[in-house]
Amino acid sequence: MKNVMAACTQCGQSYPMENLPYRCGLCNEPLEIELAAGGRIRDGNPLTQTILERYADFLPFASPDRDISLGEGFTPLIPAAGLAERIGISQLYLKNEAQNPTWSFKDRGTVAGIQHARKRGYQRIGTVSTGNMATSVAAYARKAGMEAFIFVSKAIATEKINPIAIYKPHLIRVDGDYGNLYYESLKIGQENGIYFINSDATFRVEGSKTIAFEICEQLQFAMPDYVIIPTSAGGNLRGIEKGFREFHACGLIDKTPKIICAQASGCSPIANAFQAKQTKISRIPQPQTIAHAIENPFPPSGNQVLRLLKANGGLAVAVEDAAIIKAQAMLAETGFFGQPESAVPLAAIQKLRAENILKGSEKIVSIISGSGLKFTEAFAHHSLTSTECKRDDIGPYIKHHFSRQDSGTD
Ligand SMILES: [Zn+2]
Repeated sequence: MKNVMAACTQCGQSYPMENLPYRCGLCNEPLEIELAAGGRIRDGNPLTQTILERYADFLPFASPDRDISLGEGFTPLIPAAGLAERIGISQLYLKNEAQNPTWSFKDRGTVAGIQHARKRGYQRIGTVSTGNMATSVAAYARKAGMEAFIFVSKAIATEKINPIAIYKPHLIRVDGDYGNLYYESLKIGQENGIYFINSDATFRVEGSKTIAFEICEQLQFAMPDYVIIPTSAGGNLRGIEKGFREFHACGLIDKTPKIICAQASGCSPIANAFQAKQTKISRIPQPQTIAHAIENPFPPSGNQVLRLLKANGGLAVAVEDAAIIKAQAMLAETGFFGQPESAVPLAAIQKLRAENILKGSEKIVSIISGSGLKFTEAFAHHSLTSTECKRDDIGPYIKHHFSRQDSGTD
């Protein structure tokens, strides 16, 4: 590990990296590794590098191991001119995190967490998740030859449990209050020598910074006005925001984009607090949204997200399920199939434009957080059709039902 320090995001109490606690001992808020204030992107071809290698100057690892990588990151940033025009903004780019090894952004934070766990000599890692993070930790543990402990809720559907189980972790269905397991798991980890890489773990946040680094490179360092992120625990948003701040501190970009925290209105503790100008989030008693991957009723980094939105000049916004489903269909119309939470930012951009908070001249990057195949139940909310015809009738059938206007010869 490099000789860096961490500090509490709220009270500023500093902590050495040796035996770094999960949260601040004084105020229980999350910790953050000090800002990388100098450095450059490593030379070389991203086809032969890992993200931990390319951005090594900005990460706390002195010598990253490449044998733990599954080829995470370096995901495409695709312009969506048609969508931008439809919504009425100047430019829109989609950062497609569904192209990660386990089909979500989580792999970036997992590889960073596993790297740290290994450097500290752990053989066991764990997480509390029923979705993207569980799959990611199980896969990376397998790759690194480590034991994984995945705590899921007892009610988990088979469709969700098998994509985790395929990697053969210790998969534990927890009977009882799953909501507070985040904090409980840290204690269990301490007692059993398990390194927990939960949603907003300090090193998971470090891994998420690489999303910002890639966006900078992909836009040739010409910054967007906004980056909009579907937000649950807050760890990914914290990482992306910190990444931009670090590149700015190092002189690689001349401004940082404003951050928009996008939530589903059926579970929007951060957006609620933001709208009410509060500095602390309140627990959502009964969360209910189709965007299950961001259905966290009491996000552990929620207060820190509020603090950084204030410092950054950003926004938090919540959108209804109906708008999310519509946005999921809009994404598919441009060739992207994201899970419902991946469509939350698009719905949020539409809402902000309709309210004239976005004026129309903006350049925006929207994060597609994970693949649509992760949550096939969403299909039921779309009117999806197919037709049938006899084998011998296909030619006439096409002519009759799909007659073409042009006379192309290709
Ligand atoms: Zn503190």
